[in-house]
Amino acid sequence: MLYRRFGKTELNLPVLTLGGMRYTKGWDGPHDVLPDETLENAYDVASYALEVGMNHFETARDYGRSERVYGKIWPRLAAAGETKSELRQRIIFTTKIPPMPSYDHMRQAIEDSLERMDIDTIDNFDIHGINNEEKFERTFQKGGCLKAVQDAMNEGLIQHLGFSTHGPLPLILKIIESDAFESINLHYYYFFQRNWPAVQLAAEKDMGVFIISPNDKGGQLFNPSEQLVQLAQPLSPMNFNDRFCLSHPEIHTLSLGANTREQIDSHLSSIVADIQEDASPGSELKTVQQRMDQQSERLQQSGQLCTVCHDCLPCPENINIPEVLRFRNLWKGYNMQQFVTYRYNMLEAHGDWFPGQFADKCTECGDCLPRCPEKLPIPSFLFEVHNQFYKPKKKSH
Ligand code: SF4
Ligand code: SF4
Repeated sequence: MLYRRFGKTELNLPVLTLGGMRYTKGWDGPHDVLPDETLENAYDVASYALEVGMNHFETARDYGRSERVYGKIWPRLAAAGETKSELRQRIIFTTKIPPMPSYDHMRQAIEDSLERMDIDTIDNFDIHGINNEEKFERTFQKGGCLKAVQDAMNEGLIQHLGFSTHGPLPLILKIIESDAFESINLHYYYFFQRNWPAVQLAAEKDMGVFIISPNDKGGQLFNPSEQLVQLAQPLSPMNFNDRFCLSHPEIHTLSLGANTREQIDSHLSSIVADIQEDASPGSELKTVQQRMDQQSERLQQSGQLCTVCHDCLPCPENINIPEVLRFRNLWKGYNMQQFVTYRYNMLEAHGDWFPGQFADKCTECGDCLPRCPEKLPIPSFLFEVHNQFYKPKKKSH
């Protein structure tokens, strides 16, 4: 395993983090009932993760049974002769709690997490999902959520403070500029590079940078299109994306929501010790990246590439134009229909975690058209994506 200094936290994190959100029946309720199969699956994967050096476990209050599962299984991970406290020192836990409405709510939630995870201190704590202005305000409300976290830090219940976000880039930059956090947990990967300025600003401020879901939200790269497989040769699409992310020294660790040993194995070959070499022109990684980039260039030459610049917003119908047209890029450039179907149909169902209406709500008002530097026929592209990928939800009776 390769380890990187997680910014000013001074934690030494493995470049691959074990995400705890996909264990067998991990999301089923009731969450305080932990089936044997969930515990055995988590134990098996976590023990293997430790064996290969992935000693950073990530979870969240809102990941179903996840915190409680870790609380039950981690004490069993001790090596022969190792005490519980020696084992605890080897494991770094990150958990996340959303911005709570008051000091007392936040305090209670922190105490709940400690109890569920059977730990005395949270090594790295994130305010979970500062996705919009409302959550920003709630986080920074005087005497509220952040004060509860700071008091918990003074008492030693939390060691380091960061935040996670699925929000828009200007909001992310504003949160970083607040200087309230030591690390950031955000989306950035080959097929979504818009947040690069946030990664750079975080690095300037010596913050830890943790990448959310590079495989799943990053393109379901564990289930790639044939075209993507060919473009990524001799790497796998997943290894390409891992290495693309890690070729930036500003990025310290990637979350890997594994629920089998094989999934961990499939990422181990992504670890390249010499990132300078990986990032240099002519390297294996750069050769693949050039081939990938050429697909976008082809789209641009034919007047079809959305550069995800966001200049077209706002849309009066609250259509997330850049994201829908990014999906069109992935479809036309890389044949990623499966991923686009999965992701497009998450619109209108996940609130501020994935905002925006379905593209068929476009009224063709034309407001966005003069703002697009690429002169894209936005409404017709939107309808094209909707007609191709929208799957009406089955009504339950
Ligand atoms: S044309 Fe459609 S996408 Fe563009 S601003 Fe109007 S409603 Fe929104
Ligand atoms: S302005 Fe044009 S290129 Fe930019 S995000 Fe909107 S549609 Fe895409």
